[in-house]
Amino acid sequence: MKVVIIGGGWAGCAAAISAKKAGADVYLYERTDLLLGVGNVGGIMRNNGRYTAAEELINMGAGEFISIMDSIAIHKNINFSGHKHAWLCDVSKAEPLVREFLIDSGINITFKSRATGVQKVSDKIKNIQFADKSIVEADAFIETTGSTGSMDNCTKYGNGCAMCVLRCPTFGMRVSLSSKAGIKDIQGEREGGVPGAISGSCELPRECLSEEILNDLDTKGVVLLPVPKEDINMNKLGQKVCQQYALKEYAENVILLDTGHIKLMTSYYPLEKLRKIKGLEKARYIDPYSGGIGNSVRYLVATPRNNFMQVLGIDNMFCAGEKSGFFVGHTEGRCYKQQLLD
Ligand SMILES: Cc1cc2nc3c(=O)[nH]c(=O)nc-3n(C[C@H](O)[C@H](O)[C@H](O)COP(=O)(O)OP(=O)(O)OC[C@H]3O[C@@H](n4cnc5c(N)ncnc54)[C@H](O)[C@@H]3O)c2cc1C
Repeated sequence: MKVVIIGGGWAGCAAAISAKKAGADVYLYERTDLLLGVGNVGGIMRNNGRYTAAEELINMGAGEFISIMDSIAIHKNINFSGHKHAWLCDVSKAEPLVREFLIDSGINITFKSRATGVQKVSDKIKNIQFADKSIVEADAFIETTGSTGSMDNCTKYGNGCAMCVLRCPTFGMRVSLSSKAGIKDIQGEREGGVPGAISGSCELPRECLSEEILNDLDTKGVVLLPVPKEDINMNKLGQKVCQQYALKEYAENVILLDTGHIKLMTSYYPLEKLRKIKGLEKARYIDPYSGGIGNSVRYLVATPRNNFMQVLGIDNMFCAGEKSGFFVGHTEGRCYKQQLLD
């Protein structure tokens, strides 16, 4: 069986391995030049219920990516607001390891390949079309294009394109292929009925922090710096993707985590205000580049599906990751691979 996967984020990579293990010839198409999509930022693993999920994946024979992330964990079993026994992994090291693993496993990967349309014959997808006009046929298709973008949506439902890791201006925007096949997307909404939600963290380069903060991060993994009273903004919490972590501590403090780059646990924070805080006088953002103003808007769409991850109404199309439901993480994206395998 030939299986084509569209979207090389965590979910697409996980689906690729599962399909390969099930004996398929697997072809993965990714619109950018990197695997892992928004998984190139983040890095909090094994916190709360994700610990159980990670162990379950390992015990069910699907622990490859858990092992890769465990191998680049910098801090283990740390606690901070809303997060118990978290592992902080160096996301800047993940992509090359995952890429090598997929290639060694015999997955065919094509980069800079953006799917733009589908041809459907009765209830089956016949082929997928790409921006360069090429066409690919397969027996089954798995859509793992995430729930982010386009840039227009980041502007309409966020604070504008904040120049995030997805790099839409360079590689073109996400396309909902299930919707191209005539299946109506489910729209995610945040407080007030506004579509989508704003990603919940930014990244700073280590070099811009004071030595004192860096030492603290090296030893403890996490640092809390109180936000000056006049700068506390509770309203931002309601806009954030990760509502389970939208706690007031995240508005009252700047919370920094050591995940290789330094993860700042807020959707965005004006640069001039960030620089008022002791030790952050030289701060700047590296993801998204305009983190002082905004962040990527996610949860815009999911696909209606059954519990075999089959897109409702299409016999040979499946989905995984954020495209298959409004959940939030690296681990969750990979858990669904086990269901695909089943
Ligand atoms: C700032 C930030 C911080 C985060 N922090 C954490 C964290 O600490 N811990 C955690 O567990 N989770 C975190 N997450 C969430 C986690 O990264 C995501 O939930 C998960 O990686 C989603 O994976 P996915 O494969 O479903 O989607 P995506 O990563 O969005 O992948 C979709 C892929 O599809 C590609 N694509 C889209 N359209 C097309 C097309 N038409 N043709 C070809 N390719 C296409 C995209 O380029 C992308 O590579 C964070 C997310 C963000 C944005």
